[in-house]
Amino acid sequence: MLAEPFSRPLIFVAHPDDETLACGGLLQRVAAAEVVFATDGTPAGFGLERRFGNLKAYTDLRFQEASRAMGHVPSASFQWLTRPDGTYFADMHVFEEIAAVATSLRAIAEKFSPDAIVSHAYEGGHIDHDACSFVAMHVAEALSLKRFEFPMYWLDASGRAVLQVFRDSTPGGAGEVMERQLSEAEIECKRRMMAEYRTQSGTISTFAPGRERFRRATSDRLSFSVAQCRDYLYQSRPPRFYHSRRHRLSAKALLKKFGEFERWRARREDWRRQW
Ligand SMILES: [Zn+2]
Repeated sequence: MLAEPFSRPLIFVAHPDDETLACGGLLQRVAAAEVVFATDGTPAGFGLERRFGNLKAYTDLRFQEASRAMGHVPSASFQWLTRPDGTYFADMHVFEEIAAVATSLRAIAEKFSPDAIVSHAYEGGHIDHDACSFVAMHVAEALSLKRFEFPMYWLDASGRAVLQVFRDSTPGGAGEVMERQLSEAEIECKRRMMAEYRTQSGTISTFAPGRERFRRATSDRLSFSVAQCRDYLYQSRPPRFYHSRRHRLSAKALLKKFGEFERWRARREDWRRQW
């Protein structure tokens, strides 16, 4: 088994289940980890309130699932980002509140004192994943932390989902891919974690638990370009909404939000001081 280049990572993911799918083995290998969920995992517009009574009931379920999944790895703790008023960030809308998201993550990171931040790669698969990638870059930079990233999913030219493979194998000299084959015992534990996410079982069943990939993240603000993420094709079923095949949110719109955050940050003494 290869030793990991960190022993106390902060693992920053967009949704409950991302941490299990991408890092379920890694979580078992490190001495301690703090998993931070960016959103409540409850996207509006999918009819979830009809299926679960109301959206709050669905959110509660997702939180319970995450708590049970994390219960299989006692060395890891977890928490959610919150706005200053204590509310959670909405699924699919991280990009609209980047300053608040980054501020919350930074406060958690300062408290936990990780030796690395591990988060999503910028890959044009899910808009929240990409927004988290951007936020992780800024917080790691502000706190002088090493940063690593993992691939989740993106769609190839024929519209097929590519799972857990980096979309750009050599983006501007990105770090070498660290591929981890999990042991039988690690896979067994990861399967138990995956099984806790009953509301996500359809998506989860498409992921194979045996292998995880990471790399040292070398992206900077220039890496967040249109080329990587022309359009977001996340939601292809009705009701379709703005980041779907029919209503595409262009990468340009996302990058505009990134630019707004950077201008906000440049004005803030408490962010700038760290530069
Ligand atoms: Zn996700």
